[in-house]
Amino acid sequence: MSERVNLRIPGPTPVPPEVLEAMSHPMVNHRGREFAGLIQRVAERLKEFFCTNSDVLILSASGTGGLEAAVVNVLSPGDRVLAVSIGAFGDRFAAIADTYGAEVKALNYEWCQAADPEDVRRALADDAQIRAVLVTHNETSTGVTNPLQDIARVVREAERLLLVDAVSSLSSIPLETDAWGLDVTVTGSQKGWMAPPGLAFVAMSERAWKANENAKMPRFYFDLARYRDLLPKGQTPWTPTVSVFFGLDVALERMAEEGMERIFARHARMAQMTRQGVQSLGLELLCADERFASNTVTAVKCPDGVEVSALRNVLEDEYGVVVAGGQAKLSGKIFRIGHLGLVEEEDIKQTLQALEKALPQVGYTLPAYR
Ligand code: PLP
Repeated sequence: MSERVNLRIPGPTPVPPEVLEAMSHPMVNHRGREFAGLIQRVAERLKEFFCTNSDVLILSASGTGGLEAAVVNVLSPGDRVLAVSIGAFGDRFAAIADTYGAEVKALNYEWCQAADPEDVRRALADDAQIRAVLVTHNETSTGVTNPLQDIARVVREAERLLLVDAVSSLSSIPLETDAWGLDVTVTGSQKGWMAPPGLAFVAMSERAWKANENAKMPRFYFDLARYRDLLPKGQTPWTPTVSVFFGLDVALERMAEEGMERIFARHARMAQMTRQGVQSLGLELLCADERFASNTVTAVKCPDGVEVSALRNVLEDEYGVVVAGGQAKLSGKIFRIGHLGLVEEEDIKQTLQALEKALPQVGYTLPAYR
């Protein structure tokens, strides 16, 4: 292993030393006063980042657990849902709903495009039976950010529920849970939050809680009403990942000091730098439309004649830079550079320099003028 790995995958993301240190805190009673103070402090801070007055419930699970909780807490088997998918995570959200017996209507896009809110409007107008819309805010598999606010407006006008996978966006890209009218909003600790994997955060609107009263999908571990009822006591229904809470507390403190606007601006800068950098090496972005290019992850088309796995191995073994490959049908076709959470100019500069050196080693000819 190299001394300092530049972890440029879209999660888990690098964790600051003070967060790692906080996680070595001795165990505490998870039904005691210290933990109660910790969870309530963290939950309050999360509300600010979610831009919501609703409780943010904290589950000991990865993001997928949060998505599963979203589905099973507001829907019943047989409910019709519109699953908007622009990539692998959109498909996953649909698969969860399908697994629990929802009748899934797919609105699929090419894996490089953003969803069009007008398509959502038409789909809802054509089918009054659709109860809920599932949508991914930032599609990590393609590096595309959906126009969530516009989609939310359409869903609100049609008076359906909106379930949002904000796993790789919330905290890094603007998202306003209450103002935009999102009903269930889900994210995960290992993305923009500078914390390790292990926690999912879920906010439910009043409409979502109303739906919860009649939602019949089976649930036990992820029964959100239990989480809501115990939060005022500073507890979770089951034993939580206590160490990750200690780390998150410090990470949120650091994020609050930087401030949301500055965090968003830093992500926009890092993303811009990444996109320009890879293009100046003659590479093509998967997302051709700058308006929807993600500020947390950039997907780059692998040039002809270059094997993604070979490129990733050289980057990691010789330059200490770890990038992600493509998922599902994009496997072998793209590589992805994560720029969310703890990321500064130097990290991106080093990534681009490593790419410039590694690409010729795996058979790529760099453009003469760059
Ligand atoms: N949704 C999106 C957009 C993601 O990026 C991820 C993780 O990469 C997930 C869902 C799933 O999260 P997890 O791997 O934490 O279960």
